[in-house]
Amino acid sequence: TRVLVVGSGAREHALARVLAKQCDVVCAPGNAGTALSFRNANVPIDDLAGIVALAEREKVSLVVVGPELPLTLGLVDALSAKGILAFGPSKAAAQLEGSKAFMKRFLKRHGIPTADFAVFDDVAAAEAYVRAAARPLVVKTDGLAAGKGVVVATSTEQALLAVRQMMRDRIFGDAGSTVIIEELLAGEEASFHVLCDGERGIALPAAQDHKRVRDLDQGPNTGGMGAYAPAPIVTPEVHDVVMRTVVEPTLAGMKSEGTPFRGVLFVGLMIEAGVPRVLEFNVRFGDPETSVLMALSRIEGGGWYDLLAGAARGELPPSMQASTDGAALSVVMAAEGYPASVRTGDPIQGLDDPGNDQVHVLHAGTSRRDDGTVVTSGGRVLNVVARAASLQEAAALAYARVDAIHWPGEHHRRDIGRLALTKGN
Ligand code: ATP
Repeated sequence: TRVLVVGSGAREHALARVLAKQCDVVCAPGNAGTALSFRNANVPIDDLAGIVALAEREKVSLVVVGPELPLTLGLVDALSAKGILAFGPSKAAAQLEGSKAFMKRFLKRHGIPTADFAVFDDVAAAEAYVRAAARPLVVKTDGLAAGKGVVVATSTEQALLAVRQMMRDRIFGDAGSTVIIEELLAGEEASFHVLCDGERGIALPAAQDHKRVRDLDQGPNTGGMGAYAPAPIVTPEVHDVVMRTVVEPTLAGMKSEGTPFRGVLFVGLMIEAGVPRVLEFNVRFGDPETSVLMALSRIEGGGWYDLLAGAARGELPPSMQASTDGAALSVVMAAEGYPASVRTGDPIQGLDDPGNDQVHVLHAGTSRRDDGTVVTSGGRVLNVVARAASLQEAAALAYARVDAIHWPGEHHRRDIGRLALTKGN
């Protein structure tokens, strides 16, 4: 069985690694880590025709799509049209991530808990709404903006500035021609992943990401500096509430509207006093969450290939379950300058340790020179993952490995898992 994994981050390396237990794996375009363990094909993620041709040439049984961009461009539709099985939502179902206005209206239509909101495509109307609202607001671009199109405004002035920059100055291009303005929610965030076959969902353990670049959530936002799971904020009671009030109505609503959701639904939750609300939907695996989810989840009754192929076919095997034992934690090691402008080309030292059952290193922004040296080639460079009986042990194992890897300008957070560790887990 051969599988094509589309993408080049630690998320795709993590997926390739678990799929390789059952399959021959090809990555497009992949990174230095996937080139070493599997095989890379040099096709960019937004070259839909190129990926379809690659899947045909390689005679793959399944394509697993990592990033949101090809999903919102319709890669799964293009593959399905050629009879190639693909894990991920159709272009229409991917609107749950591709358009925040679509997502918020969908939630409202189906009575799914989320922040109050209004949608604008006229600057003056948006400004008037901001002036009239006497409470903290969050301003968001409708379209994809690589996680940067969200402004949590603490003053009316800040909210007005965000509205003007997005709508009038178009600093995020067309993504900002429509904006969503919503109420600021309080609470703790969690990432809730559910594998879906259009009707049924299998939840993976809840995880927590660390968005800010520096310890104690200081500094600018990033793609994510580390993650851990399970997240104690998602108690068994909260888990049940999320399944009942969010996941089930979402799957039923998407089906009744003619766009059944297949793939992984990543629910970004804000949880306050045990009450979960939806902050956002993503229609693909989180990065860095995937590294811990793959390390932690045990699939009963099969492997990851069976699970992802089953979801893609629209028939998750009813007997399959994801079970958890222990805890997993991952630390992102980033390049000089990240998340602003990044220096690349630095040789990485300390990669030789092959790892073991408990600790492994996933690649993201890496490439390999002709002489074999692995060098940095992106902002988030490596993801060091550990699994152990407790979160504390996992953290100790991960940081010991992090401390043995070096390159000039490398930086990482030292406090991944802090929220759970300080609660005494
Ligand atoms: P990403 O996919 O990178 O997480 P995004 O562009 O899809 O980002 P959101 O997830 O909607 O954006 O928002 C990004 C972050 O902003 C959230 O993780 C949360 O910390 C904060 N945020 C968004 N909406 C709200 C809200 N209504 N109340 C409080 N915080 C919010």
